[in-house]
Amino acid sequence: MIIADNVKRVRAEIAEAAAKSGRGPKDITLVAAAKQNAAESVREAVLAGVDAVGENRAQELAEKSSQGAYEGAPVHFIGHLQTNKVGAVVGRCSLIESVDSLRLLESVSRRARLLGIRQDVLLEVNIGGESSKSGVLPGELDPLLEFAAAESGLRVLGLMAIPPVFAPNGSSRYFFDEMYRLFVDMRGKKYDNVDMRLLSMGMSSSFIDAIHSGSNMVRVGTAIFGGRA
Ligand SMILES: *Cc1c(COP(=O)(O)O)cnc(C)c1O
Repeated sequence: MIIADNVKRVRAEIAEAAAKSGRGPKDITLVAAAKQNAAESVREAVLAGVDAVGENRAQELAEKSSQGAYEGAPVHFIGHLQTNKVGAVVGRCSLIESVDSLRLLESVSRRARLLGIRQDVLLEVNIGGESSKSGVLPGELDPLLEFAAAESGLRVLGLMAIPPVFAPNGSSRYFFDEMYRLFVDMRGKKYDNVDMRLLSMGMSSSFIDAIHSGSNMVRVGTAIFGGRA
């Protein structure tokens, strides 16, 4: 049961990092980033007690869902979502972490209203300003929050980021700190339908740093499942 052992180890590391920043293990949500891993492996991770499973592609989500991979755990969508795939994701994922444009936010909201639900989302921020990455720039967040405030199909629960890997000082700490500042700033604004309480940042090689900076949701793939093909 390598996956179960990995989950246990990651949990222990999360608990230690959380304690260093004055929080408890339950304050951090562990999302198993499951892309390219088989339904059977995902099921092992769920049984080992991860809080949620993250998927990057609508196709994989549908396949593994029909194979019963997620039973017992909520699923988050964490990859780049094309507007023509919104129908396969809205209402099937408890949280869409990767809303990266106003157009996508509009599309998600329209679909959710059609289904008569309110979809929980995070807004993805391109904190490093990298042209290769998805996400809105910090200065573009307010229009999205203003839009969400008037929508019955949405609830914005926080922010998500994938900072540059090779930050100037060799870690992502600078960008994690910047994200935390932005999160606190946005939390202070009172928009309807916005409840800024989740800050999703940190992956296998960075979740400890991310937690030290204030992350309360980490998305961990290889440290749980091993290397991807
Ligand atoms: C793959 C992925 C992760 C996890 O990456 P690891 O380095 O394998 O832990 C986290 N977030 C997103 C959006 C991903 O695509």
